[in-house]
Amino acid sequence: MPPSRQIESLLFEDGATMEMTEHMPPASDYFGRLTFTGDVMMRRLPPNVAMSLNATIARGAPLDPKLANTVAAAMKEWAIEHGATHFCHWFHPLTGSTAEKHDAFLSVNADGVPLEKFSGGALIVGEPDASSFPSGGIRDTYEARGYTAWDANSPAFLLTSSEGVTTLCIPTAFVSYTGEALDTKTPLLRSIQAVAKQAMRVLKIFGTDESVERVVGTLGCEQEYFLVDRELENERLDLAVCGRTLVGAAPPKGHQLDDHYFGTIPARVLSYMSEVESRLFELGVPVKTRHNEVAPGQFEVAPTFESANVAVDHQMLLMHILRDTAGKHGFKCILHEKPFAGVNGSGKHINWSLSTDSGVNLLDPQEETHTNMQFLVFLCAVIRAVDLHADLLRGSIASAGNDHRLGANEAPPAIMSIFLGEMLTDILDQLQAGKARKTMKGGTLDLGSNSLPLVPRHAGDRNRTSPFAFTGNKFEFRAVGSTAHVAWPNTVLNTIIAESLDWMASQIEKKAGKKPTPAKLESTVRDLLKQVIKEHRRVCFDGDGYSEDWTKEAEKRGLPNIKNAADALTVFSGRAATGLFSKYGVMSARELKARCEVLLEQYCTILEIEGRTLSTMIRTEILPAALRSQAELADVVGATQVAGVECPDSEDSLRELVGMVAELRIAVDEVDAALEGGPAAAAKRAAYIKSTMVPAMERTRAVSDQLETRIAADIWPIPTYSEMLLLGG
Ligand code: ADP
Ligand code: MG
Repeated sequence: MPPSRQIESLLFEDGATMEMTEHMPPASDYFGRLTFTGDVMMRRLPPNVAMSLNATIARGAPLDPKLANTVAAAMKEWAIEHGATHFCHWFHPLTGSTAEKHDAFLSVNADGVPLEKFSGGALIVGEPDASSFPSGGIRDTYEARGYTAWDANSPAFLLTSSEGVTTLCIPTAFVSYTGEALDTKTPLLRSIQAVAKQAMRVLKIFGTDESVERVVGTLGCEQEYFLVDRELENERLDLAVCGRTLVGAAPPKGHQLDDHYFGTIPARVLSYMSEVESRLFELGVPVKTRHNEVAPGQFEVAPTFESANVAVDHQMLLMHILRDTAGKHGFKCILHEKPFAGVNGSGKHINWSLSTDSGVNLLDPQEETHTNMQFLVFLCAVIRAVDLHADLLRGSIASAGNDHRLGANEAPPAIMSIFLGEMLTDILDQLQAGKARKTMKGGTLDLGSNSLPLVPRHAGDRNRTSPFAFTGNKFEFRAVGSTAHVAWPNTVLNTIIAESLDWMASQIEKKAGKKPTPAKLESTVRDLLKQVIKEHRRVCFDGDGYSEDWTKEAEKRGLPNIKNAADALTVFSGRAATGLFSKYGVMSARELKARCEVLLEQYCTILEIEGRTLSTMIRTEILPAALRSQAELADVVGATQVAGVECPDSEDSLRELVGMVAELRIAVDEVDAALEGGPAAAAKRAAYIKSTMVPAMERTRAVSDQLETRIAADIWPIPTYSEMLLLGG
């Protein structure tokens, strides 16, 4: 049943009807109906093929090519029944978004007979031109061949546009003719495999249940976004082109009153959210939570976690559907990390854990945590990884947009640290002192009223200021930007933790032997944990991550504080990173170098586009408005003086305005000059832009924002912050 609103009618005795309520059918009726998996697949495939495909999906193994024709034929029938005329390989090139090249099912055979075709070959492999995607030097324009390869682990789906055109999308990896990854999925899949393999080693050491065959990464992403009236957005070149405002004076009311967070969701927004959700439900994306965020006009949506690969695909779909649905409701959905200066920006918390294929969460500390040596090994492996590779983790979230958030007193600082909470901190203390003997309990909270229940209290508080927080049974990487393609931070996380688990497993095996007695194993593990805690505990910090004190303290502890993306991204060109990624088969030296190049180029390009957009707005909108205002004021001064009245105040205002206009011209000239010059090579250019153009843009903005507060509202040419942000009510 399609998820359209159903209208219940009341029937009167005289036959008249009256529409009463509108409601959606239950989501379970249509969840996943546009994905080729589960019931849909079972009903359409012969049982042996369905079982084989299911096993492929469950184990992440490639599909038996002999079955591909049968699967393709069934997919085609299903897609055509839903009105699809085309199929596409849906992939994740290094642009940060997804790509799709559509092919019609229709083909006309030699006798001129038209028929719909979709072969197993076309399902499994595609050949899009690879030369027009960013490759960081791996591909040249004349070396065009690239391949997409079906990732059967992530279900195929039918994507219907907001205007009703449906396409069959096959999730695929994208590689070059030479087999190098040109996408984010390929390294992600390799990193999932790497971390799973090392985690499995640890499980074997602890004699895990024989039935566990595999470990899988789990991922849940919380997405923040802004909604702005579409008409207002259309009037702002900066929002339309860059997704953020490049000028704009602070509104009188931002989030000072804290009245937006978790407030009542405005009706128009709620109906948008509801449509987004029903579209996502059809696509099998299990969205769960929705609420107002801190800033006016800011909201959040979060799905339930899934296996990392599927969760990443679903995250991309979620961003697409958020944007695609907005127009119909008169909104523009803005995913940028910092659309409005001085107003809280948007992030994307990625919740990360590992689980067995039977669904046991390996980061679940369980009741008597101090006795749970396996959990403590995983925990300490994460602590060690984040300490040793803080620079890589920082690099994984570096982007032009995220530079506005990190360290800006509203988002985690650029210093990577881990929040553990009281209970785990206490266990680390005990382990460091010798042996862990007890687990702190949270107890209950008595709210002092008989009508209220006793609230079970967690054994630790939360910390919004930490970039990487343990939240009960998973880690929440909170420093990720809202526009980020989550595959990359997830890939880096998996890789550094694979290395750490590998090291821990090897240490235990070396010291305890292959088949240790339980006592020997325990003492070996205890010694190892003590060592890791001693060496790497400096990365754990439970205090206020936004405070100045922490920045100083972190420096004392020797933790890196890499303040901007231009610096942070270069870490991927270093020898340490190259060794690590190639050792675990995640990326070859060439692939990693190329990735670093692409990320730096993207950083430069985004800032250059912003610089040009700012210059255009200043020269074609703001300066002319300022001059108009100047002329008006000059008329007033002139006319007043002609009337024989002195007007020193107006003269002062005029002088002030003329001064600002001159300042604005100088500043915008500096932006243009910076855009003209500078080195071309990506890393050098990034550093150059950061140190020349970005400050010039800031100066330009400062004068423009000052002008905005002086110029008559009917002359100011673009929508103001207040107009754009009042949406949230
Ligand atoms: P919190 O309030 O701690 O942020 P939520 O329950 O709201 O926790 O979860 C936030 C996100 O974390 C959700 O997407 C959720 O599905 C995800 N999550 C929960 N458990 C795990 C897990 N084991 N692995 C990965 N993500 C998880
Ligand atoms: Mg959360």
